Amino acid sequence: MQSLCFYDTKPYDRTYFDRYKSAYGFEIDYFETKLSPKTAVLAKRKSAAIAFVNDDLSAKTIKALYDCGIHCVALRCAGFNNVDLEAAKGKIRFFRVPDYSPYAVAEHSVAMLLTLNRKTHKAYLRTRDFNFSLNGFVGFDLYGKTVGIIGTGKIGLALANICNGFGMKVLAYDPVRRDCPYIEYVGLEELLNRSDIVSLHCPLTKATRHIICRRTLEFMKPNAIIVNTSRGALIDSEALLDALISERLGGACLDVYEEETSLFYEDFSNHIVRDDILARLISLPNVLVTSHQAFLTHDALSAIAQTTLQNISDFLAGRKNPNEIEN
Ligand code: NAD
Repeated sequence: MQSLCFYDTKPYDRTYFDRYKSAYGFEIDYFETKLSPKTAVLAKRKSAAIAFVNDDLSAKTIKALYDCGIHCVALRCAGFNNVDLEAAKGKIRFFRVPDYSPYAVAEHSVAMLLTLNRKTHKAYLRTRDFNFSLNGFVGFDLYGKTVGIIGTGKIGLALANICNGFGMKVLAYDPVRRDCPYIEYVGLEELLNRSDIVSLHCPLTKATRHIICRRTLEFMKPNAIIVNTSRGALIDSEALLDALISERLGGACLDVYEEETSLFYEDFSNHIVRDDILARLISLPNVLVTSHQAFLTHDALSAIAQTTLQNISDFLAGRKNPNEIEN
């Protein structure tokens, strides 16, 4: 049996990978630690390493993995902005899971929007305390409102479909225009100008880093809500915080945060969190933060496990695989 090294393991990862590993002929060594130049050594004598969104795949880690004999890293996620592909050239081949469930992420975006808008998170706490007051809970109808989707790939299109079902007007900004009868493609500035809700679904690249910044926030409607379930660094968080505090923006739903790497997926409830921007964002009544959980459905986790194991199996057998990341 071939043995794999699994980084940043959580109990739910293990459940799904354990379910499928023997069908692919693998055994897996699970490690809770994240992948970094120091922990790369755990992959020695393994056939491949399995990594996640917040693992360090910088040039230093890639060299350390390569020195341990690793030639294949399978990312169990879609995004690969944490990989130094230039450094990996000729050394390590990377694979990803491009479309495990766009619905999981699109539905979480809508769940966050509905929660923030209709204050169901606060209502739940009130009624548990037999407080049946409705003061402060006024929201707005989604029907008839305009959503602006930045990036209409798999997730953006799934969201557009849901929003169309709600009776919303759908605007989009994407260099690649999809053929969809209810989407109106416009420029970024026009999208920000006209949208009541702006939802980010483009990948994090040099071009999209801080696509929402002080300058672009100025184009948004004063009551608009921004939703980010893509990657934290698409938004300049300090600029977002300033816009929210000065009431130039209606609210924010954030499943991702630009400095999430050392915080998200861990329990800091008994610690003092020293990230003042995140702490201030969480303290605002019109901000909802979840911990990069948009992917977390049974369907998505099953697909992630099977595709990741298939990717490694194809690599080891020398088969062509469409999920390889080109570098
Ligand atoms: P995709 O590749 O199918 O679509 C991305 C779209 O963004 C493409 O249509 C592309 O043309 C567009 N795009 C690229 N550059 C752009 C730009 N400058 N402006 C506007 N649009 C641009 O990807 P997907 O499967 O829809 O996933 C989108 C992103 O969602 C991923 O890159 C990942 O970062 C994030 N994601 C988050 C979670 C989570 O749990 N929160 C889970 C999966 C994916």
